[in-house]
Amino acid sequence: MNIRTRALSAAIAPFADAALILSETNRFYYTGFAASDGALLVSPALTVFYTDSRYTEAAENKLGKEAVRDSGRLYEDLAAVFESNGIERVAIEADRVTLSQFVELQKKLPGVTLVSDEALTKEINAERAVKAPEEVGAIVEAQRIAERALDTVLGLIRPGMTEKEIALKLEYEMLSKGAEALSFETICVSGANSSLPHGVPGNKKVENGDFITMDFGAVVRGYHSDMTRTVALGRADGEMRRVYATVLEAQTAALAAMADGTTCFDADKAARDVIGNAGYGAYFGHGTGHGVGVEIHEKPNVSPRGADTLKTGNVVTAEPGIYLPGRFGVRIEDMALITASGCENLTKAPKELIIL
Ligand code: ZN
Ligand code: ZN
Repeated sequence: MNIRTRALSAAIAPFADAALILSETNRFYYTGFAASDGALLVSPALTVFYTDSRYTEAAENKLGKEAVRDSGRLYEDLAAVFESNGIERVAIEADRVTLSQFVELQKKLPGVTLVSDEALTKEINAERAVKAPEEVGAIVEAQRIAERALDTVLGLIRPGMTEKEIALKLEYEMLSKGAEALSFETICVSGANSSLPHGVPGNKKVENGDFITMDFGAVVRGYHSDMTRTVALGRADGEMRRVYATVLEAQTAALAAMADGTTCFDADKAARDVIGNAGYGAYFGHGTGHGVGVEIHEKPNVSPRGADTLKTGNVVTAEPGIYLPGRFGVRIEDMALITASGCENLTKAPKELIIL
């Protein structure tokens, strides 16, 4: 049992005797061990990690021999463990367990009550949202890799290159600079395509007068980074500069508002008000930010619908944007660590308008 499983087993006590964690991401979060197959049982009395023979040896090395069992006998073993430990209520991840897994659990474990409401999900999300120093360390390392990749790629962009080529160069640079994976498929959109917040890089060639928006991230030790920069190629006209300055002001306002105790609604509003006051409110359709960690999008959700309050240890993005359909778009995204007095920006790449 480690510090995380201990915290989880205490937190679930009001609604369950044990938690059965089936999703790969949450299993990784609670064990630090990545395996495509497995199940993790967490209760106050014991923690058991079930996996198959491909992973057994490595899992035993990481978690200890006594904590690892063969997933080939998962249900028989669980039934015996439940019986001998008096476990009657077993919480499962409502947002991750598939319907067929649920039906199978019901069928194979008739003696227990499956707690399938949102209780376990809420607890796991809340725990994951507050990062320990080593988690922040991995995120920062991933972010530095992404920044160094951007630095290299900004020196390579020339008119006539395609969006896809630029995206591939960013990915190549991140992977060759030490990323174990990419956070998500790199976004590179230019010119009129840059008005699509999550456009897919295509064969469009970048031209002088284009904005180029690049949204990308690296993974280190299972933790993701996320950043966006928008640069101009050759020149930027008056409205492009005005929109860029507005997005930067909005992004700065969001970061200034972020602190332990700020509601996600208010942090979002700080950015949204700047964009609204500049007359571009209709062109900022998405939320201001999201948590980042073992997944690229996690709690808290910094948006007008975000019900959470920021807490010390959260790592969240600030990424407002303005997207003028058929013309151009701008988004600027940093990651910030929430602290008692404000936030620490984990992103060091410059944000003043760059004209290549
Ligand atoms: Zn992003
Ligand atoms: Zn993001």
